[in-house]
Amino acid sequence: MLVGAITLWAHFRAAPAAPPARVVPATTVTKPAPSADSNGPKLAGLRPDACQLFAPTAGDRHLTVFVDPGHGGVDPGALGAASSGEVQEKDVTLAVGLELLERLRSDGYSVAMSRTTDATVAQLGPNDTDENGLTQSGEHRDTQARIQCANARQAKLMIAIHLNSFFDPSAGGAETIYDAEREFSDANERFAGLVQSSLVDSFARHGWAVPDRGIKDDSSLFAPVLSMQAGNYGHLLELGPSQSGWLDDPSRMPGALTEPLFVTDRGEANLAVSGEGQAAMAEGIQQAINGYFDGGATAAKRG
Ligand SMILES: [Zn+2]
Repeated sequence: MLVGAITLWAHFRAAPAAPPARVVPATTVTKPAPSADSNGPKLAGLRPDACQLFAPTAGDRHLTVFVDPGHGGVDPGALGAASSGEVQEKDVTLAVGLELLERLRSDGYSVAMSRTTDATVAQLGPNDTDENGLTQSGEHRDTQARIQCANARQAKLMIAIHLNSFFDPSAGGAETIYDAEREFSDANERFAGLVQSSLVDSFARHGWAVPDRGIKDDSSLFAPVLSMQAGNYGHLLELGPSQSGWLDDPSRMPGALTEPLFVTDRGEANLAVSGEGQAAMAEGIQQAINGYFDGGATAAKRG
């Protein structure tokens, strides 16, 4: 689920009805939160255990990647149903993020994690939550906290991990979002293409034909429904450019937001909660990050 965006296009782009070919057992494992090597200075407005920095475990590329598992704490993200029961987006994004963390460290990266536990990133105020979870101001504050983390840790690349949802349970597939109005938009688009193709390829290697919905410019996503400001802004906050009074300090590095699966599709929800499905997602993103920095052949754009 995209913060501040309504994914209306899914209504007009019926995904191929191709549930994953293999049925996998639900094996979601809650890993213990890893402990950081260096937290650096505490960041104002962030929860004390948010935004931890992890050193490489093999080699050192002298590059920091920001990994942002979407949602957390009072914000469950999208809700779906797997055969084993309810799926909350926040749990899957965290599991994928933690798996990606270890893979990237062993590839020589430093990794800044927006969160490593089931919690928001921002220290929330009284107007940031209500009985439904995060309010609009809470979403805005929590997303800004993630940007603040990425900038403070001087990340060279950002990946935000989400999962999709739609009222029509036949909608499915992977897609990746980038911003086309930044000074580094060419890099955004290249990275988004790598993430998208690597994810679909990784699913295929594991035996799952997840539909490829392609990459999308974030300005194509918006319906001005959440708030006047969000509608006027017209970008994903985490990826987009500055706008005075709404986003004064935008993310300073290329990045993408990926939604590898729909939790509202039963087959994809089963994949999302499985250990093998989560490993396939982490593997795909890991390969995209290596491809981005190694400057190899740019994956063909899809969609
Ligand atoms: Zn989300």
